[in-house]
Amino acid sequence: MEFQDKVLQCVDCSADFIFTVRDQKFFLEMQFKNQPKRCKNCKTKRVPIINSPLHYKPRIETRATCSQCGKNTTVPFRPTQGRPVLCRDCFQGQRTAASGLIKTSTLARVG
Ligand SMILES: [Zn+2]
Ligand SMILES: [Zn+2]
Repeated sequence: MEFQDKVLQCVDCSADFIFTVRDQKFFLEMQFKNQPKRCKNCKTKRVPIINSPLHYKPRIETRATCSQCGKNTTVPFRPTQGRPVLCRDCFQGQRTAASGLIKTSTLARVG
């Protein structure tokens, strides 16, 4: 399918705006059935997501010690007490190991 920039008219201010190829592809990807009805200006006026305090989430950074290698690290969540905290390296290593662990444990049970 070939995409082309479309000129649409804003329902709010009646200004022409471009429904770009990039946006069309995005809409298709998100499976939006309707074309955009408003120009960029009116859209930002209607949905001030960026400035809305409701959408503002402070980043949590908690200092923790990796329970595997003992390295000081920060985690983007509050660690639960008693739960092991892993640094990024160990976390990734564990995920890789976990996929191999299933086979090993099955073998151990058989043997
Ligand atoms: Zn408009
Ligand atoms: Zn670690």
